[in-house]
Amino acid sequence: MATIETVLGAIPESELGITLSHEHVLVFMGADNHHYPWLFDWDKTRERVTRELTEAKAGGVDTVIDLTTPDLGRDVRFVAEVAEASRMNVVVATGIWRDVPRSFWERDPDKIADIFVREIEVGIGETGIKAGVIKVANDAEGVTPQAEPVLRGAARALKRTGCPISTHQWAPEEVGRRQVEIFQEEGAPMDRICIGHSADTTDVSYLEELLSTGVYLSMDRYPGGPGRPDWRQRNATVKALIDKGWTDRLMLGHDHAPGPVMAGREAPEAKRSGYLHLADVALPALRDDGVSAEDIDTMLRNVPREFLTGKKS
Ligand SMILES: [Zn+2]
Repeated sequence: MATIETVLGAIPESELGITLSHEHVLVFMGADNHHYPWLFDWDKTRERVTRELTEAKAGGVDTVIDLTTPDLGRDVRFVAEVAEASRMNVVVATGIWRDVPRSFWERDPDKIADIFVREIEVGIGETGIKAGVIKVANDAEGVTPQAEPVLRGAARALKRTGCPISTHQWAPEEVGRRQVEIFQEEGAPMDRICIGHSADTTDVSYLEELLSTGVYLSMDRYPGGPGRPDWRQRNATVKALIDKGWTDRLMLGHDHAPGPVMAGREAPEAKRSGYLHLADVALPALRDDGVSAEDIDTMLRNVPREFLTGKKS
């Protein structure tokens, strides 16, 4: 049986269960947590994040794929603590988000791949915690000259290790198309790649164009809202793709991150965990629209398992 690397070590694929494709445990733009830790109340932050993960676990979520990179303040020791406290499986990431560090701008893609491969095979820093996925990101600015070597490095790390890639794209401007082109130029196995934030568009023909190259799509950012497709529109896009036969290429998520608690402040009033919008609201509505329980199970269990292990089910 294949195993999957989580923040608490490798688990058998049978323990993966219901898996959310694109989430965060804790995010800090500019890695403020590492540079200015005194800005935050760490006890209250730990409590808040643990509560949301515990509630998600009780609500049926078994695993979250945490796509938090160094430029988003990745702290796998913190993630390990809250994963242990909540009993949630968390797959952590190597890779780089949109704030490509200056040191990467001129770095050869093979050297970038070396860094990612080290985090996949040896571990992140000195923790021994291994990344189970490679994250890359390109937003409305498209694939910039600084970001392109990161994509190429990710493709080469995938080819060397078999570790899958999960992207952030700005779907309204079809940025995933260029991501796919670069991965194809690198000769990467397209069936080991997931193009993310794909429910930010309602353009089914664009999404089918991506799918036809062999990639998975992460239909995430539920519940969405102002200025972007809301959850009903996201559901409609998911249903359209299911009706066209793409169920076994789709995964679902929220891109949720419980916020930190600032030092000297009270924790905000506890709200229902942001990891549960799908379970509470969107999935029941999809069922009401005629999507079968089997199709929903495929998107939440089989596809993430196949994506993470590389083993076809
Ligand atoms: Zn994200």
